[in-house]
Amino acid sequence: MPRRERARGVLLGLALGDALGAPFEGRSRVARGQVEAWRDARGLMRWTDDTHMALTLSRRLLVDPDLADPDALGAAFARAYTNEPWRGYGSGPPQVFALVEEGLGFEEAAGSLFGGSGSFGNGAAMRVAPVGLLSAASDPVVAARLAAIQARVTHTHADAVDGATVIAQVVAGLTVTDRVGGDEVQQVVRATTERLPVGAVRERLVEVMNVVASGGVPQEAAARCGTGVAAAASVPAAVAALLGGRDPLEVVTAAIGFGGDTDTIAAMAGAMAGAAWGLERVPAGLLDRLEARGELEELAVALSST
Ligand SMILES: [Mg+2]
Repeated sequence: MPRRERARGVLLGLALGDALGAPFEGRSRVARGQVEAWRDARGLMRWTDDTHMALTLSRRLLVDPDLADPDALGAAFARAYTNEPWRGYGSGPPQVFALVEEGLGFEEAAGSLFGGSGSFGNGAAMRVAPVGLLSAASDPVVAARLAAIQARVTHTHADAVDGATVIAQVVAGLTVTDRVGGDEVQQVVRATTERLPVGAVRERLVEVMNVVASGGVPQEAAARCGTGVAAAASVPAAVAALLGGRDPLEVVTAAIGFGGDTDTIAAMAGAMAGAAWGLERVPAGLLDRLEARGELEELAVALSST
């Protein structure tokens, strides 16, 4: 499958997971039938802050692929939020934007949250997938560096940075590969986990891989790590959905079924699954319902040739 097809799969997979998962956010479990009914419905599917921030990051990467100016990225996030504050943003980023208005730099503002530990939420991981589309990100060191730079604009806690690193490296690892298959996916997840610093995200990823390797279902793996907004819970949960699936729609539906932060878990899982399998098995009618589909595809193709 050509690289640009995988790239399209990443951004559309992200938006699909976000938009499909959004109505179920906060539920403890979601029945498969409910997700399927929403999948088979008609009308525009709007996405939330996850895709909104990923779009902003995508546009910044096209003008500043090294993220040499993180505050310009932060300012772009802040502008996007001011324009569309109704996209379901968490409480962290708006606090950062307000502190920057008062004169702090972005990283300084982000680092002051939660009593000085910075946010350990999944906000940096949910938006990071476009980083994995850059050619330079096929080097895991580059992917990790860019993931961390874009994270620290709003999320400075090590778990938030590690979570973003996982999504960026898995997307990058799967986008560049010529092979498709469960083995390849497992291999990329394992290599990514082994590169991570010791910490909560790595620990739970190891647990997820062990559950899946011993024949456990993704639901069981996700239940062990939790499905809340913490990066150390939701990023491994998204990986569990990826490891248990064979195509983006199946992966996203499973991710939503876990409950909890459904839109973000499904967005992260959808981006990784889109990199692995492209969109061949996603019904065209469903993609047509996605808000800003054309712009997402254009950005994906542009990023993958950068
Ligand atoms: Mg959201």
